[in-house]
Amino acid sequence: MKGHVARKRFGQNFLVDGGIIGAIVGAINPQRGDAVVEIGPGLGALTEPLLARLDHLHVVEIDRDLIARLKKQYPPGRLSIHEGDALVCDFAAIGRDLRLVGNLPYNISTPLLFHLADYGDKVRDMHFMLQKEVVERMVAAPGDGDFGRLSVMLQYRFHLEWLLDVPPESFDPPPKVQSAVVRLIPRAAAELTAKNPERFARVVQTAFTQRRKMLRNTLKGVLDEAGFNALGISPTLRPEDLAVEDYLRIANYLED
Ligand code: SAM
Repeated sequence: MKGHVARKRFGQNFLVDGGIIGAIVGAINPQRGDAVVEIGPGLGALTEPLLARLDHLHVVEIDRDLIARLKKQYPPGRLSIHEGDALVCDFAAIGRDLRLVGNLPYNISTPLLFHLADYGDKVRDMHFMLQKEVVERMVAAPGDGDFGRLSVMLQYRFHLEWLLDVPPESFDPPPKVQSAVVRLIPRAAAELTAKNPERFARVVQTAFTQRRKMLRNTLKGVLDEAGFNALGISPTLRPEDLAVEDYLRIANYLED
């Protein structure tokens, strides 16, 4: 790995499979003037082919050794390096109509996705490599065992598309899990019908705190018997049985 020892704490599994790298960049299909931000450029597996097709690229990286390498490799006119933690990065400060991409550090992928979901109105699209198990949770349908808070919050804000599966051998070192690449495209403002997005997020979070319990229990103190009746939602269902639309109806009912 060109003299760099992979750091587990930064979730470093570097892509080494040229076919997969080509497929990811092809799916992103960058156009010269696009405002692309790569999260976790690492040793540049995606950075290099992206820069070949772009005038300029932004990257967000936490590892100082990797940052030093990137600075040596690329002039600031081509690569803007945002040093620090993507979990607290203010992507809105980087620009507008952003295209976020990355082979994400798996150890922080769920909190990172929740953080990125807040930028739904600032980005054009997102393409990420993640653990396959996380992509399964993202695209899960109501009733699926892995349908949860992540599914509801992301499906509310984005159209999700599972693009390709990636085996461990495509990385060095190979991760212990299977991976997959997913595309997220923000929904139009007219589709975002939560009257109060914070309340919607709170209701979803509260419902899923105890996913094996009935809604009557998980939403105790939030939605009473009359509320369940008015909405036509059975209080004996479990949180994973409700559709995104049902959570919206609950949140909007409470708002009224
Ligand atoms: N893009 C490279 C590739 O595909 O080979 C590296 C991907 S590696 C899975 C994840 C990258 O994210 C590493 O470069 C790691 O240092 C970086 N990283 C880890 N945690 C981060 C964080 N909190 N904020 C920004 N970058 C982070």
